[in-house]
Amino acid sequence: HAEVAALRTSLGIRVSGFDAPKPVQTFEQCGLDGALMGVIKKAGYQKPTPIQAQAIPAALAGRDILGIAKTGSGKTAAFVLPMLVHIMDQPELEKGEGPIGIIVAPTRELSEQIHKETRRFSKPYNLRICAAFGGLSKYDQFKDLKAGAEVAVCTPGRMIDLIKMKACTCKRVTYLVFDEADRMFDMGFEPQVRSIMGQVRPDRQTLLFSATLPNKVDRLVQDALTSPVRVTVGEIGA
Ligand code: ADP
Ligand code: MG
Repeated sequence: HAEVAALRTSLGIRVSGFDAPKPVQTFEQCGLDGALMGVIKKAGYQKPTPIQAQAIPAALAGRDILGIAKTGSGKTAAFVLPMLVHIMDQPELEKGEGPIGIIVAPTRELSEQIHKETRRFSKPYNLRICAAFGGLSKYDQFKDLKAGAEVAVCTPGRMIDLIKMKACTCKRVTYLVFDEADRMFDMGFEPQVRSIMGQVRPDRQTLLFSATLPNKVDRLVQDALTSPVRVTVGEIGA
């Protein structure tokens, strides 16, 4: 335990939550398949960032995660890599309908970046990553979801629209990510965020990332995450 504590201190992270796994020091220690190791290498990532070092093993163990980390800390790979493992592990991947993974971010620009990263990391697999945010044709997005995209990267408003249009249901969703939750709440998306959560089975895996932890976001964490591993990188925000 002293060794794990020293490792966390050297990474500049604080971790709480029941039985949080040991952080990794290399991507090799994550037990990812050769295909994923290839794309990580191709991206030029030599070793995990602090948030990745703790969040990846926890997410691979099936844990809910609260990650408090500011921009530029490498959050995207922290939730995308375990999501891809989770999806490729599904026994009836070919059969189901509707996405297995949903990633929600506050703005079109942020969703766009996450969509790009997700496509880059999912390249070795035959997965369809639907972009469900503004600035692109809602009709095309409807068709992508209807055709069975395994992942939706979305903004809250557009995702709700598409669900209302019956592009998909959330019945198959078992991996749900909220990125930049504090910004999402600042923008007034709490009702949409809660609506999406309410449509996803309660035994899902939920990952929530935020730069700060205001009361409203903390309440959502209490309501929506089950025994999360909490990881804080650097200073705690407001
Ligand atoms: P955040 O979401 O925390 O703002 P990003 O996931 O957008 O951070 O990552 C910030 C930048 O760091 C991106 O350009 C990303 O490709 C790069 N990056 C992420 N993880 C690593 C890593 N392990 N090694 C090197 N670069 C990384
Ligand atoms: Mg980000």
